[in-house]
Amino acid sequence: MHMKRLIRLIRLIAIMMVMLPLSAEAQKKAGIVAHRGFWNCEEAGYAKNSIAALRCAQEAGFWGSEFDVNMTADEVLIVYHDSDVEGKKIEKHPYTEFKDFKIRNGETIPTIDQFLEQGKKYPETMLVYELKGHSCDEVEDRFVDLSIEKLKEHGLLDPERVMFISFSLHMCERLAAKLPGFTVQFLGSSRSPQALAEKGINGVDYNHQVFSINKKWYKQARRNKMSVNAWTVNEEKDMEKMFRMGVDQLTTDQPLEAREVMKRMKIQEL
Ligand code: MG
Repeated sequence: MHMKRLIRLIRLIAIMMVMLPLSAEAQKKAGIVAHRGFWNCEEAGYAKNSIAALRCAQEAGFWGSEFDVNMTADEVLIVYHDSDVEGKKIEKHPYTEFKDFKIRNGETIPTIDQFLEQGKKYPETMLVYELKGHSCDEVEDRFVDLSIEKLKEHGLLDPERVMFISFSLHMCERLAAKLPGFTVQFLGSSRSPQALAEKGINGVDYNHQVFSINKKWYKQARRNKMSVNAWTVNEEKDMEKMFRMGVDQLTTDQPLEAREVMKRMKIQEL
């Protein structure tokens, strides 16, 4: 073989040897986030955002358990997905009007205090705290501040214990500004990772299809050293795609299936 070609070949092999372990490493570990807790089981009574669903996620050892938080008119934080309960807007009515409402497994809607009491029992489970959008910036500011106060009260204001997600850019910005060192992931698809990083937000949590539509966004997030999460990934083929891409977290209603997919793909579950 010609000397020059040989040198070029050796150089190419050397570059590949450096690159390969790096790309493999990036895909080797990920965390499963149980979407609205591990609700999809008998023990939780199939009740999303219930204390039982949080407990089941903790007991099953998933990396994280996601939950949705809303604020009532008298500033009580409750764990509930929708902005209204049976047509009654949560932020316009006081807590007394919601306190007796039963969710699917017979629990009442958890207050943040009740929920965090359960949260702190398992230090290994990350609390993935979603702040639902409210009507204006002032209310959202109060909601963010109160959320921080509550976490502090329960000894959970720690980046190892809680991370934040929201569709509200305003709240993501406020959280990022107030809590440096904590992970804050934006849920909407309206902003690129680059645009979010410029606002000081250090994570993205996109619908998994967003990564297919905007093919450069995953790398863009990585270039900006952001954490990457994907929701709500319930089909095995989509799970595989996300794990192959290299997400840090995968948010799913089917956490046991995600665990199986990871085993099959030899990806370490965090
Ligand atoms: Mg949510």
